[in-house]
Amino acid sequence: MATIDTTAPVMVTGATGYVAGWLVKTLLDRGHIVHAAVRDPENGEKLQYLNALAAGAPGSIRYFKADLMESGSYADAMEGCELIFHTASPFTTHVTDPVKELIDPAKLGTRNVLEQANATPSVKRVVVTSSCAAIYGDNADLQKTPDGVFTEEIWNTSSSVEHQPYSYSKTLAEREAWEVCGEQERWDLVTVNPSLVMGPGVNPCGTSESFNIIKRFGDGTLKAGVPRMGLGVVDVRDLAEAHYRAGFKPTATGRYIVSGHDSDLADLAIPLRETYGDRYPIPTRTLPKWLVWLVGPLLDKTMTRKMVSLNVGLPWRADNSKGRRELGLSYRSLEETLVEFFQQMVDHGVFDAAKS
Ligand code: NAP
Repeated sequence: MATIDTTAPVMVTGATGYVAGWLVKTLLDRGHIVHAAVRDPENGEKLQYLNALAAGAPGSIRYFKADLMESGSYADAMEGCELIFHTASPFTTHVTDPVKELIDPAKLGTRNVLEQANATPSVKRVVVTSSCAAIYGDNADLQKTPDGVFTEEIWNTSSSVEHQPYSYSKTLAEREAWEVCGEQERWDLVTVNPSLVMGPGVNPCGTSESFNIIKRFGDGTLKAGVPRMGLGVVDVRDLAEAHYRAGFKPTATGRYIVSGHDSDLADLAIPLRETYGDRYPIPTRTLPKWLVWLVGPLLDKTMTRKMVSLNVGLPWRADNSKGRRELGLSYRSLEETLVEFFQQMVDHGVFDAAKS
């Protein structure tokens, strides 16, 4: 159980990221000193959104240069911090070398950050942004769960370098985190395991895979239809609150599934169609599994027949009760999340070429 001094600086790795953006805002709005670890503190274009947040908030922000793959590079950022939020990890499905681009930064990067926590006497708690991807690899895994629902007790055992490498990277990273934590007693570890994160970004032009997914619903990519495929969704703002409570609530412990809604890729189109269907090519049809199996891998190099077989047409269900009970989490409606995310893209001209 860790009690955090709220006047001590709080470190956030990957502060320029989509998920971290709202966490940094939450910290600044509540008056904290944020030590933002970023790869390039000279990149004014990327930092402008965080600077704008800090300008109007009671808290303050300081940038530190750090890279997951550079041992010791988090030392300055971590100095004097009691609470560390480790969010940095690549989230993309378009990779040519999954070991170099996903697995190494996730796993070795986590070890790097946590070894720095071992070397920094002020650290009392580390919150790692893991993922539901560390709990399941494919929707078919749901059938192997004891109660037909994903829980914090379950680990992803189906992903590998060849199959679902992003999920594999998150699984290895979280396992690494628990291992490093178990070797010492000064700081405790809490993991936040979100499902697919949606909702407007602090940076409206984010590069997280979340943006690419919602973009396809409005740019015509999915005009022919969308496969039925279960997934969980959480709002990026609710996720920031979950991180905050996981960090500052002394009794927070273990893993927390943070997922607002058991949904389906095809159903994400429903609120978007209602609001934007007359102006943008929001999909109206679902694609049959056999067609996705046949054509999908030809159209999208990241999609394999194995992925289609184990995910398309299969439901997804997760138990979010631990976070509701222990952290008091609650969730926005899926409609609010999706419409506000889409509207942000409309406002930034993302779909201008696709407008009907
Ligand atoms: P994102 O916007 O791409 O953020 C990733 C962050 O990691 C960026 O700040 C990036 O820094 C940093 N990063 C990547 N490689 C790095 C390296 N070698 N050294 C230092 N920093 C590095 O993606 P996100 O969606 O916010 O993801 C943030 C976290 O949430 C990740 O751990 C991800 O696995 C987890 N998560 C995301 C989702 C989701 O649906 N978005 C769901 C579950 C879990 P640069 O700005 O310098 O590139």
